[in-house]
Amino acid sequence: MEPRDLSSHTVYQAGRGVEEVARDLGLDPDDLVKLASNENPFGPSPNAVEAIREAAGSAHSYPKASHADLTEKLADRWSVAPEQVWLGNGGDGVLDYLARATLDPGDAVLVPTPGFAYYGMSARFHHGEVAEYDLSKADDFALTAETVLSDYSGERIVHLTSPHNPTGGRFSLDAVRDIADGTDEDTLVLVDEAYGEFADGPSAVDLVGERDDVAVLRTFSKVYGLAGVRLGYGIVPEEWADAYARVNTPFAASEIACRAGLAALDDDEHAEKTVETAAWAREYIYENLDAPTWESHGNFVLAEVGDGSAVADELQRRGVIVRDCTSFGLPECVRITCGTEAETRRAVAECNEVLAE
Ligand SMILES: *Cc1c(COP(=O)(O)O)cnc(C)c1O
Repeated sequence: MEPRDLSSHTVYQAGRGVEEVARDLGLDPDDLVKLASNENPFGPSPNAVEAIREAAGSAHSYPKASHADLTEKLADRWSVAPEQVWLGNGGDGVLDYLARATLDPGDAVLVPTPGFAYYGMSARFHHGEVAEYDLSKADDFALTAETVLSDYSGERIVHLTSPHNPTGGRFSLDAVRDIADGTDEDTLVLVDEAYGEFADGPSAVDLVGERDDVAVLRTFSKVYGLAGVRLGYGIVPEEWADAYARVNTPFAASEIACRAGLAALDDDEHAEKTVETAAWAREYIYENLDAPTWESHGNFVLAEVGDGSAVADELQRRGVIVRDCTSFGLPECVRITCGTEAETRRAVAECNEVLAE
């Protein structure tokens, strides 16, 4: 027996974990600052922690009521019908559902480069092909309709990331509309707003009500600090929202994830503190890092440091973990997640010392 031909498939390269790095370097995990995976520096919403503790006692039951409650709460928040909310095991799980719902074998998706690796991975899992549109560094990775449409040739899904990972830029809603207008009727424009809460502009959910070819992806991993419980959702057009029932796993998000998500949505204080601190940290990094940066609307900043993997390695030896962007095709860059004030100051100070060497 052999698996099918997986030679075109790639392996997801996650930012390194604190325990892993501490073990390698013989350091105490508490002395490390991890700014490599755009996680929430304040941890999960305390409300969610409480809810997870309480939910532990009902872990024996399938998440029927909590799934419905969370779907309804999100629908309410976004003024859409509950059917339009597709819960998944992380935003990644939602990408899988959208691929399942749209791709016939051999259909292609159009993904940004540099960009989030899972778009292409998910398409390949679903027997799809992957084409790329290039964001140009010379153009400061500008996210325009032109950039996307000039590389478009009838793909079934066009992936937009706004704010974009790893550059931090964003598409205007007009650009999203122009892309949806400029692509075939059968093309879904999927706007990934994993970092949407950190940006001050309107969400593309505004467009989902207007048309049947735009969907939006959101996650609890970033602003709500729930990356470890795996919870995300899509907002899809009403016209085909019922496809969810035909493509999702029987219980798309766990009882614990749903309870945590419900509680996190009510914790405005934690979300506001997270967003405000990220805004402060972005400015701090632009102003104090001795390297060129790009304006970011997310909880991270991309910086051009020369040899990204050498700088990331040396920073790691000093106890600061940032993301080497080689796997994004930007070997001259690192991506620094916005930490707490103390973490951000330390990361910038250490990075400046490394750069001065
Ligand atoms: C973090 C992230 C996601 C979603 O991650 P999940 O943890 O699976 O919810 C999606 N898109 C981008 C661009 C991201 O950075």
